[in-house]
Amino acid sequence: MEIFRLGSAAPAVRDIRGRLAKLGLLEAPRPGEPACYDDACERAVRTFQQQRGLSVDGRVGPETYRALEEASWQLGDRVLHYAVARPLVGDDVAALQRRLLDLGFDVGRCDGIFGARTDSALREFQTNWGLNPDGTFGPASMRAVRQLSRAVVGGKPGHLREHEALHQAGRRLSGKTVIVDPGHGAGDAGWVVGSLREADLVLDLAQRIEGRLAAAGANAFPTRSADGNPDVHDRAAFANAADADLFLSLHVDGAPSPRCHGVATYYFGTTDDAGSAVGERLAELVQNEVVARTDLLDCGTHAKTWEALRLTRMPAVRLEIGYLTNPSDATRLVQPAFRDTVAEAVLVAVQRLYLPAEEDPGTGQLRIPA
Ligand SMILES: [Zn+2]
Repeated sequence: MEIFRLGSAAPAVRDIRGRLAKLGLLEAPRPGEPACYDDACERAVRTFQQQRGLSVDGRVGPETYRALEEASWQLGDRVLHYAVARPLVGDDVAALQRRLLDLGFDVGRCDGIFGARTDSALREFQTNWGLNPDGTFGPASMRAVRQLSRAVVGGKPGHLREHEALHQAGRRLSGKTVIVDPGHGAGDAGWVVGSLREADLVLDLAQRIEGRLAAAGANAFPTRSADGNPDVHDRAAFANAADADLFLSLHVDGAPSPRCHGVATYYFGTTDDAGSAVGERLAELVQNEVVARTDLLDCGTHAKTWEALRLTRMPAVRLEIGYLTNPSDATRLVQPAFRDTVAEAVLVAVQRLYLPAEEDPGTGQLRIPA
């Protein structure tokens, strides 16, 4: 799709402004008035992106447009059900998931996607409340949900389930399936500075991580080969089909200013705490281990709703390892020994995720024999 930005005057801008207005971020367009993407519109887009955990660039591309569409649905606006081929997605689905979760039904996490787990949780709820368990969330189920007191909610049942699954998985890496996802690929090099290409660097790093995971007994699968470049939906679908335990996405960052530098790690999360608790923990471990073993600036961990993090059903993190556009970071990235150190840090983070708290050795301590 076209990317809308400051100055755009396409007919779609009216729709974008209308959606922002509905969310209370912008004044409603007056009938007949030409709709243009002005400063106020850009500010509203930035605010929206910030609120939704998207990359904040003030432009409306596919991801921001998708989020605008999703944000326009409120619980009760439409009948919800499990459409296998093309699941319903929206804030109304997320609201339903949160209610079911609060009532004790296992929807997985509140990702706003009406999938198989939401379907079975809804049917269970319907059975428990004497409704027809048809998996369709229409007026009758809506009434039942509304009648139930909100007083019973508390804690984060989704988080507890995720921690329990982690505990059940056991401490050993052997037998675990980890998907290693080198960003970009054929036809999309990512950031390029001179002869350095992000796609090549992350592929090399991915191979180092896979080698270590395999040596530790884990099943490590890459999402792409050297000359492949599946889209984000295919990468996530691959991880889901493999029923993977973890998903590690690898990127190198870049910026218009050569002064930006450092490492950051991202996990699936939203401002209302509906994200992945284990993803957040893994992001912290990866970030801390990388920072402890390298001299990259610590840019922290952050919750994002990027597609790769949201569509993957297992805990997922995205590592942005340094800025290729920063000469000092680039000098490090080009060294194989540095990439080895990063791979080691990632392996240690994955191992630490599965260790019980009392056995966790602390950041920078664990050494995994070759
Ligand atoms: Zn990238």
